[in-house]
Amino acid sequence: MVELDWLKRWKTYSPKSIAIKDGDTGREFSYADFYRLANQGAHLLHREFNIRKGDRVAVLATNELEYVFLFFALQRLGAIMVPVNFRLTQREVNHIITDSSPKLVLFQEAYRDIVKNLPASAQPQRLLFQKSHSAEKSFSELLEKEAHLTDYSFIPEESDPVMILYTSGTTGSPKGAILNYKMLFWNSINTTFRLNISQSDSTVIFLPFFHTGGWNVLTTPFIHRGAKVVFLKKFDADQILQLSADEKATILFGVPTTMDMMARSPKFSSLDLSSLRYAIVGGEPMPLELIKTWDKKGIPIRQGYGLTEFGPNVFSLNEEDALRKIGSIGFPNFYIEAKVVDNEGRELGENQVGELILRGPMCMQGYWHNEKATQETIKEGWLYTGDLVRRDSEGYFYVVGRKKDMFISGGENVYPPEVEQILRSHPDVLEAAVIGVPDDKWGEVGKAFIVPGKEISSEDLHRHCLQNLAKFKIPKQFVFMASLPKGDSGKVLKRVLAENA
Ligand code: ATP
Repeated sequence: MVELDWLKRWKTYSPKSIAIKDGDTGREFSYADFYRLANQGAHLLHREFNIRKGDRVAVLATNELEYVFLFFALQRLGAIMVPVNFRLTQREVNHIITDSSPKLVLFQEAYRDIVKNLPASAQPQRLLFQKSHSAEKSFSELLEKEAHLTDYSFIPEESDPVMILYTSGTTGSPKGAILNYKMLFWNSINTTFRLNISQSDSTVIFLPFFHTGGWNVLTTPFIHRGAKVVFLKKFDADQILQLSADEKATILFGVPTTMDMMARSPKFSSLDLSSLRYAIVGGEPMPLELIKTWDKKGIPIRQGYGLTEFGPNVFSLNEEDALRKIGSIGFPNFYIEAKVVDNEGRELGENQVGELILRGPMCMQGYWHNEKATQETIKEGWLYTGDLVRRDSEGYFYVVGRKKDMFISGGENVYPPEVEQILRSHPDVLEAAVIGVPDDKWGEVGKAFIVPGKEISSEDLHRHCLQNLAKFKIPKQFVFMASLPKGDSGKVLKRVLAENA
């Protein structure tokens, strides 16, 4: 493969342009700084911990600037980063560490006990991520002090893994998706191409680094393009809006929950956000009312669709279609083939609902140490997404739901996202989730979980549904809750609802 050294290129082309800015402290790092830090990080990890090509390095930490430097340092060694969700329990972390068997784990003070209690069979070297009160050395300090400045050349093979990302487990136990250099490269090309990212673009990044959103959706396409990212440790609606205005950010990325929280902030109406060309939103369906709220502010929502195992950026809607094709995820990105197929793998026609399958160079390599799951997911070069979609007469795609969430009531298919959109359109409903539950008469019926904004009865909701939905789609039970169980990316955990249904 050609030299994939984006940092080296940009430190040569425009060494002084800002690659990354710390949104909390205002500290800026140019492409020359970034390149130097990545090399220093590689030197110290190699010398102190003997990290080499193919070694795994796990990270148990919240989003920190050093995380970005670490990722680019590990690439120079050909090592594989394993970001671990810091909210996981000991049992779940044990699974990931045992499965990925890292040579080193970097951890923050808050997760010291988890690292201490890893099973005897999985005992990586340990390194504190940032300075603490103790005299113990940390990655951040070592990085600052590192004096070795010679460059590492950086010519990976396409099939070399760059990261193992454990999928969030909305639907089952976490599996480690292997992202290799080919995938990283083509996703960045595809994203910059389709989203028209140029060197003068900038964005605020805040999505967690243990999801693909933080890295592949945001960081790498911008770094590949020599553009600027403003880094935030965590999501804060007011701060993101303020930074977007102050930094004249041009593109915003988010998931429906973060977009909703921003739209509710007083800063949403008071600030001038006219520098934002558009916002890309994915991960789950965006409520249509919310798309309109952002559009009224002059920021078109380009609904996107993606998944850890492919891309992750797969679809996006053109900004001029934000309202005309509201609810659509648009077209597949440039170097992606997409088909809609039935259960026998036959391609379906216009407006027929079937499984979305994908082919292209940004397909994951497979699941780490899980050949069975890999073979179930990738067949003859096509990745089976498990998502149900349809394509309209103009070729625009719509996500209809997840295959495993669909249920059949009296012989008719019910797709929960459609019912949820209708429930959410009631003015007194804040959030809604629908699952199928067994029923003696109909086989399965819908059960809705509602977070009300104001007091509301099941009868009110039933009446609202009757005006908008065929009877077989209307939930037979309504459960009112203070909040819905959610994963870290804001997605409703339907399996938790089903377990307690
Ligand atoms: P799992 O743990 O089963 O892999 P996940 O939600 O944790 O699920 P991710 O890779 O984080 O896995 O998310 C990918 C999934 O998110 C897609 O397969 C799809 O179901 C859903 N998704 C992504 N974008 C959209 C969208 N715009 N509309 C509806 N669903 C979406």
